[in-house]
Amino acid sequence: MTSRFSFDLQATDGKARKGVISTPRGDIRTPAFMPVGTAATVKAMMPESVRATGADILLGNTYHLMLRPTAERIDRLGGLHKFMNWDRPILTDSGGFQVMSLAGLRKLTEKGVTFKSHIDGSRHELTPERSMEIQRLLGSDIVMCFDECPALPATDAEVSKSMQMSMRWAARSKDAFGDRPGHALFGIQQGGVTKDLRAESAALLRDIEFDGYAVGGLAVGEGQEAMFGVLDYAPDMLPEHKPRYLMGVGKPDDIVGAVARGIDMMDCVLPSRSGRTGQVFTRHGVVNIKNARHADDPRPLDENCTCPACSNYSRAYLHHVFRSNEMISGMLLTWHNLHYFQDLMQGMRDAIEIGAFDKFVTDFHEGRAQGDIEPL
Ligand SMILES: [Zn+2]
Repeated sequence: MTSRFSFDLQATDGKARKGVISTPRGDIRTPAFMPVGTAATVKAMMPESVRATGADILLGNTYHLMLRPTAERIDRLGGLHKFMNWDRPILTDSGGFQVMSLAGLRKLTEKGVTFKSHIDGSRHELTPERSMEIQRLLGSDIVMCFDECPALPATDAEVSKSMQMSMRWAARSKDAFGDRPGHALFGIQQGGVTKDLRAESAALLRDIEFDGYAVGGLAVGEGQEAMFGVLDYAPDMLPEHKPRYLMGVGKPDDIVGAVARGIDMMDCVLPSRSGRTGQVFTRHGVVNIKNARHADDPRPLDENCTCPACSNYSRAYLHHVFRSNEMISGMLLTWHNLHYFQDLMQGMRDAIEIGAFDKFVTDFHEGRAQGDIEPL
């Protein structure tokens, strides 16, 4: 096993890329989907079950963990991997995005952000330096720069001013991160939906030099068309031989469209959150298990899926436990959704490898257009 962080770009098909990120805690096959373990758990899942779905890496949220149980406590208890019993790679966000969305509860200056905890109203400060310290205490393998994500819509002047500050924060993040072999620091490109600002941001980040690069400021409600519009050019501005991460994406068709545009890593709460609300992702689109049409249906959710929910249970059972608010409902549906997302990533990796990505995309959209199986 390697003692260093590295990225091996193994195959390309159009702009789609297949590769492997190597870390001392194991390899990450890309394109990669990262389940979100907000509070040191992927809700309703044991860590070994998350691994069984095919996940190579999890995401942890700095904002939530710094407030409860605190980074210092996790450090005393041996770090986040040991604390949550996940020994593979973990990526942590910087806390910035969640703090910025606390409009009214926060104060932003060149130094950083002060804010009130949503839990108990206590006052906290996040700066590039403090964010690096927290992510080091957590023991994160992939650390994200602390940045500001301006609310859209905004004028070019506002987006530019915000981006410039984020780039100064990126330089401060790099200084504070220091030299930590085996751990990676990713820069985050900003610039909204303006190509010139995206180019300026990418150039500034390349000068600082990071282990990987995120396309930031997207998936914040701008819509798929605007997001794909930016992804048509933004990833190309980043170094070819470093991983590219699209934060907070997304729905299955967002993921496929992002990979087609050169993205290597993504994360989203969607499969786990939807699992708890009865929304299920399949090859044939979304199924709402709470619908009465499933009440007498002895068939599996998806006869081709090998997850426990599909292998061992009927739609009727899944419908029943959802309607009865039984905990196994969230457990089984989350497992299925995470399995579906990982299966989607594996399908894309296989297709890129053999130069059949276009066909994969066509089949993906055709399958979804078919819709769910007919009711009995
Ligand atoms: Zn399944």
